[in-house]
Amino acid sequence: MINGHKLRVVIVGSGLAGLTAARILREHHDVTVYERGSEEVATGGQGIMIAPNGVKILDRIGYDHGRAAAVPIYGIRTYKNGNVLEDVGMNLKSWFGADSLAQKRSDFRDELMRLATAPSSELGILGDPAKIVFDTAATGLNPDEGIVTLSDGSTIIADVVVAADGIHSRLRNIVVGSEDYFAKKTGLTCYRVAVATEDAKKELGDLPPPHWWEPNTYQNRSSVIYASDDSPRFITAYPIRNGSYFNLSCILKTQESSTSTTESWNANGDHAKLIELFGDFSESIRRILSAAKEVKVWELQDLELLPTWTRGRTMLIGDAAHAMTPMQGQGANLSIEDAESLRLLAPGTRREEVEDILKLAESIRRPRTAHILAETRKSHANMKVAERLTKNLDFNCGYDGIYAALEARDGVLGS
Ligand SMILES: Cc1cc2nc3c(=O)[nH]c(=O)nc-3n(C[C@H](O)[C@H](O)[C@H](O)COP(=O)(O)OP(=O)(O)OC[C@H]3O[C@@H](n4cnc5c(N)ncnc54)[C@H](O)[C@@H]3O)c2cc1C
Repeated sequence: MINGHKLRVVIVGSGLAGLTAARILREHHDVTVYERGSEEVATGGQGIMIAPNGVKILDRIGYDHGRAAAVPIYGIRTYKNGNVLEDVGMNLKSWFGADSLAQKRSDFRDELMRLATAPSSELGILGDPAKIVFDTAATGLNPDEGIVTLSDGSTIIADVVVAADGIHSRLRNIVVGSEDYFAKKTGLTCYRVAVATEDAKKELGDLPPPHWWEPNTYQNRSSVIYASDDSPRFITAYPIRNGSYFNLSCILKTQESSTSTTESWNANGDHAKLIELFGDFSESIRRILSAAKEVKVWELQDLELLPTWTRGRTMLIGDAAHAMTPMQGQGANLSIEDAESLRLLAPGTRREEVEDILKLAESIRRPRTAHILAETRKSHANMKVAERLTKNLDFNCGYDGIYAALEARDGVLGS
């Protein structure tokens, strides 16, 4: 080990995985993130739920719940015909060491951006902030040498390349060595809205707000509202931004939707179509959906398990490695876990050690992800998300970082 030696790290993509990796690695290494989009790169304002396995890692890297206006979630409720079917209270903090957090996606990303780029003195850590280069895509890669070609034609040589370029990753096939791995449609479509509670109140007028909407009655639950007619449609609803907004993810089989959007998960959805598809749930839901200012729609896709995530000094992380549907709400959590596994690139790691270290990280990350992908897929057919979530709680939320996982498997002491 050479004290003071820093690896040159290039991260491709400034999404949730890339920014978390930048925060993890900036303490001891020289980190540059290349992002094809602009500083305002679209992340959508809708909600995202981070489970204790993700939150524990975020807490250790200084994630500020208050800045992200995160709402702690204490359980799941299912509803049908306006009635509570099941109420599963969860004291996740005492079981797993952290609560689940419901957040606006853009607030989440802003806080990750701060952790990646704020002065080290502000964060109380060593090292230098990561540099973020916007409007610059990676267009090519030599994964063994760590040479990244950029959209301006220039090349960068790195000791480590972290490919965090999302579900439609350009670098994935280069790492895997095959053209056969790309995200495919699952037959499910998700409409997503974030509705301001004030706007919804006006729209509801004299109608009493639904049970899952009122702070007094929702009791910080995430709610799953099933269709009254037993058709395969449901809405997941939870408060975000300190309760001033509500996220509603409205999921149905794609054939019931006339909309086709596959390439961007920020595609604008048809508001009238959303109300037509879900307005029969109840009059209050119809009005709440009407109050949405922006509707996003996404045909849910996932990726077969890749035969490898690493090649030479390059590792795929996040959706580039394991895109899956939100039916278990684990995609971003796994992305955070992947990023944290890069802690194995300890201070003083030499260039020639990188390949073996990335393989070690992969040996923990890939089997765990394979299990969660398989469980997520089981919900595609019957749409019983809440039940499967509860069943998988220990496996999903019990993960406690790469060193603990290695210790549990190999008896290697964590640091
Ligand atoms: C409807 C929906 C709801 C979800 N809800 C949840 C949830 O509640 N909880 C959860 O854990 N997960 C959830 N997920 C999954 C989660 O959103 C993803 O797993 C997560 O965003 C993946 O992060 P990422 O950084 O890998 O990819 P992204 O966030 O997509 O980031 C990829 C980045 O790479 C950039 N990029 C792409 N190509 C290049 C290139 N060639 N060069 C440079 N930059 C490039 C892109 O511009 C982008 O900024 C949900 C997903 C969907 C679709």
